[in-house]
Formats: sequence, C-alpha cells, structure tokens
Amino acid sequence: MMKSVLIANRGEIACRVIRTARRLGIRTVAVYSDADADALHIRLADEAVHIGPAPTRESYLVGDKIITAAKQTGAEAIHPGYGFLSENAEFAQAVMDAGLIWVGPLPKSITAMGLKDAAKKLMADAGVPVTPGYMGENQELDHLKAEADKIGYPVLIKAVAGGGGKGMRLVEQAADFLDALASCKREAAASFGNDHVLIEKYILSPRHIEVQVFGDSHGNVVHLFERDCSLQRRHQKVVEEAPAPGMDEATRAELCAAAVRAAKAVDYQGAGTIEFIADGSEGLRADRIWFMEMNTRLQVEHPVTEEITGVDLVEWQLRAASGEPLPKRQDELSINGWAMEVRLYAEDPTKGFLPSIGRLDVFDYPDHLVRVDTGVEEGAEISPHYDPMIAKLIVHGDTREEAIADLRFALDEGECGPLITNAGFLYRVLGDEQFAAGTVDTGLIGRKLEELTTRPEPSVEGLEMAAAALIGGGRGPWASSAGLRLNAPGKRQMRLADQFGRDFTVELGEPMDGPPRREIALNEGGERLVLKPWRAVGGADGGVGSGSILAPMPGKVIAVEVAAGETVTKGQKLLTLEAMKMEHSLTAPFDGVVQEVNCTAGDQVQVDALLAKIDTE
Ligand code: ADP
Repeated sequence: MMKSVLIANRGEIACRVIRTARRLGIRTVAVYSDADADALHIRLADEAVHIGPAPTRESYLVGDKIITAAKQTGAEAIHPGYGFLSENAEFAQAVMDAGLIWVGPLPKSITAMGLKDAAKKLMADAGVPVTPGYMGENQELDHLKAEADKIGYPVLIKAVAGGGGKGMRLVEQAADFLDALASCKREAAASFGNDHVLIEKYILSPRHIEVQVFGDSHGNVVHLFERDCSLQRRHQKVVEEAPAPGMDEATRAELCAAAVRAAKAVDYQGAGTIEFIADGSEGLRADRIWFMEMNTRLQVEHPVTEEITGVDLVEWQLRAASGEPLPKRQDELSINGWAMEVRLYAEDPTKGFLPSIGRLDVFDYPDHLVRVDTGVEEGAEISPHYDPMIAKLIVHGDTREEAIADLRFALDEGECGPLITNAGFLYRVLGDEQFAAGTVDTGLIGRKLEELTTRPEPSVEGLEMAAAALIGGGRGPWASSAGLRLNAPGKRQMRLADQFGRDFTVELGEPMDGPPRREIALNEGGERLVLKPWRAVGGADGGVGSGSILAPMPGKVIAVEVAAGETVTKGQKLLTLEAMKMEHSLTAPFDGVVQEVNCTAGDQVQVDALLAKIDTE
C-alpha cells in the first residue's frame, strides 16, 4: 500500500479522500489556491502546498505545479478527486512519467471514453446498447441539421467534450435546430475548447441510471450496482439514490453485466461509472436502456453506493492504485437497504438558482441521522471562484420510504445560513408525490419548477414562536408600550418582516423566557427565515421593482439582446452573463422601454454594475 498521497483538489472531495487516507495510515498532502488558504482540506491534511491564485486555470488546473508539489513533499501518489484534472489523460500520463502513482484509470482508458462520440462507437462495438443518433465527423451545420431531421425531433445536441450537464441543448422542432446548435457550439468552445457535437434521439420519460464499476491492475472488474440520478435540473443532478426504484433483479443483472463489458472494453482500473439512459415510460426494461457515457473517475454521488454496499470506494481506489487486487469478488457484493443523497448548494432557487455567495455562520445538520460530506465549516465563506456546493447530505435506511423521511427530517431540522441555500427546494422535491411513488424522470423537476421554487409562507406556530422569542420575557419594548398587557392571549398582534421583504402578522401568545432580541432565525422545511419586528426594518418594501438591471455577481457579458429605445416585455431576455461557469439570463422585470445599455458582449463586469435600465412608458 502507498504511504503518502497528494490530493489535487479542494472542497468536500479533498476532505473525503483525506479522511479515508488518514484511516489507512497514509500521509496526506493538500494543495490550495489563495482563495483556499483557510479551507478545511488544508487543516485536515498533514501538509499543504500553495499552488497559486484563486482562478482554477492558475492553480488547481496547472498540472506542473501539482506534480512539483508532490515531488517537493515526497508524496508517492496523486488522487485527482472529481472535476479539475481527474479526466485529463495527459495529466495522468505526466504523473506516471514523473514516477508517481496515479490514483485513477490508465490514460488510454480516459482517452477512449473522453469524447462522447468516440466512446459511443467503441461501446457499440463491445456489444453495449447505445442511444440512437449521429456521432460522425462531419460538423457542417447543414449536415448536422439533416441528420437531426433524419433522427426525428425531439433531439438532443451534445458537445462531444461536454460534461456536468453543460454543452447540451434540447431541440423540440426543426425550426429551432440551428439556433440551438449555434448556442451549444458557442458554449462548448468556451467551456471545453472543442465545439464538436453529436446528436441523439431525445428519449421520452428519460431516467438516468448509472452503474458503479471497479477494476484493478490484475484484470478484475466488478460492478457495485446502480444509482438512479433522474432527479435533475437542467441536466444537473439534484437527488441521487441507490438502488434505482422499480429495478427488478433480471434487468439489474443485464444492465450491470453490460457495464462490466463496457469497463473491460477499455481495460478499466479504479473507480468508474457507466451512465445509461432509460426510457422509463413502461418501467425499467433491459431493452430500453442505452449507454450514454462513461465517467472515468469517482463520482460526486459515490456515497450512496458506499452506503448500500458497505464499501469505502476511496479505500478501494487507493488499494487498486497501489497494485492490490480488489478487496471483494462480485459474489461478495450485495445491496443492503436504500441510500439517498442531496446536493446542498449556496444558491437561490427563487431567483433562477443564482449562486449566493457569502458567509456560512451557521451550518448544523443532525449528523446522527445524516452523513454530511463537506469541505466547509461554520464561519467559512463560499467563494465565487468555485462551484457553490456546500455539502452532500446522505442517508441510509432500510427502505426507500425511510430514506426519504430521514433526509426530509434532516433538512427540516438542519440549519444553514445566512447565505441562501437550496435546502427548502430539496425538502420540497423530496416531498413530491410522484417522487415518493418512484415514478421519476429527468423532467420531473422542470415540470414542477414553479411550485418547487416558491418559498412557502412560514407556519403560524413558527411565527408565533419567533414573535415570542423576539419580545423575550415580557420586559421588551412591546411589554412597556401602549399599556396593553402582553399576557392576555390573543389581545396583541405583532408584525414581522423576513429578509425577503415579506411581512406577517401574528397573534401574540405566552411570552418566552430570555431577553428581547433584534432578530431570530426560523428554520422550517429547509427554509431559513431571519425575522425581525416589522417596525425595525421600516416596513416591507412594497414598491414596484427597480428598473435597474444590475450584475448579480462578477462575470462576463456574453450577449446583449436589446438596445436603448427598444420596447421590452416582462420576462424578456435582455442580456446573458457568464459567471461561475454558467450562463445567466437577465430579464426585464416589467413591461417597459430600455433607457440605457451600459455594456457590450465581452465586457467583464463587477457585482452590482448597472448593466441596463428599463422604465415604464
Ligand atoms: P454530461 O456529461 O454533461 O453529464 P450526459 O450525456 O451524461 O451529459 O447527460 C446528462 C443528462 O442529460 C442525463 O442524465 C439525462 O438526463 C439527459 N440526457 C442525456 N442524453 C439524453 C437523451 N438522449 N435523451 C434524453 N435525455 C438525455
């Protein structure tokens, strides 16, 4: 077994790898950028090396700096985590050329699966069913259009180099194809430096089912069953579970056997995932499940597999990379119970999932019930430089019902703030009836987005408790003013305001012990409301929204859709901002006329920069 490992990553996955390495007595070396000088992964590791400024292109993505850091600290191996350099074959090769152990598959396996089109061809040859579509070299626009017409709409355009749900466009009808193609190619060129695309038949009632595979350097490959990641928003996973609801033994056996064939076809070593897409319109059937792609690394959602199999996948990675055979044979692996994971993000679902940068003063989940995989602690900042994931919350239950109930309980009981999170959204998603019934598909969240992203009113009991806590033990301002007796139930009302500009009126009941407070946080259903006496905030803002279009975060303007003098309607797209690796549309808050546009495509803008102004006339 290796004696030391450098983790070429940050955040929760760096912490996750360090934890297992330490348990195995392996010395750990962390790397960090300027933005991560105080990060948790630095403190958990035995040693840490600074590798540059915050932008990933100058730090976490610079292979040379990472290899030098490993050499300097005498680390024997490099674990890439996920993202960053994890699926970069040249880096893997450079690590090996430097005489270090690469904790991952052989570079040739990464390359074989690296581009979606080549991988699909290879899999078809290996007898793995693939999604019908066009995966050819000819990238002329007219040719691609003709192929899409031939496949029949709806189709999905995918960047061959894409990943993480980016570089993909659904096209419902022929008339929209060329626009979608242009936008997909633009995003692909910007994000992946490769604008080639493939076209796939869009599967109706699609379910995302993936199989965890594992190989060693002795030619053994096993699978660790499936995960269902169908609950997605814009092709990004929101909830993951294992096993997949409605999967029968025969279908599972066939699917997992195909996954093992796929892994063997590329001499796979280490942890990998074969992603399939299933047409779930009539339940899961082996003849309606097709290969989509292989991820040649550990996945974000690997913990659900760990929970149902009892295997520590990072331990297996470190053992396999050290040349050991797999710790278990296929017939020694089985499924125990049900596991589920949600991704807790610093983002505001009520504002189009805008990343919410800021402090994490409170971060507290009932960890006897839920496994919290995170890279942050209370007091940390969520940095605008990286993915705004705060944590993964993972539960294991005897049944699916139990897993859902436990996870909802954890979200309800837990607290995370003051930055805005998607916890309430997750709580509502997990409470969806269709989800509970197991009839999931990748469009479920999209179809119910409105209701899932609406912040509900707090409960009357919650507000009453908050009001009582604000007033305190009867000696606060309310007790002395107006000469009314606080203890007479139902006789007094109090108006509270939350941080979102809403206000609520409650009847005051029994006062609570303790001094009066300026504000109190009410946690319910994953939502964290910071309540204050309405008077204290000068009343809620009832006015019409401002027509000033401000940059919600620092970023780059990539398209301006309107000009000064133009009439716009509420919701109309004004411009597109690229920030935190995603495109954000800024839209008109009401019907009106564009007064000014202060930016052009290509501009770098700061947060709150006035990009445009709309007026009603
Ligand atoms: P990425 O590499 O960006 O994760 P994938 O190819 O894995 O992209 O696809 C991501 C998601 O997009 C899938 O989980 C699925 O929900 C959806 N998807 C992909 N291909 C299809 C298809 N042919 N039909 C319907 N949905 C699809």
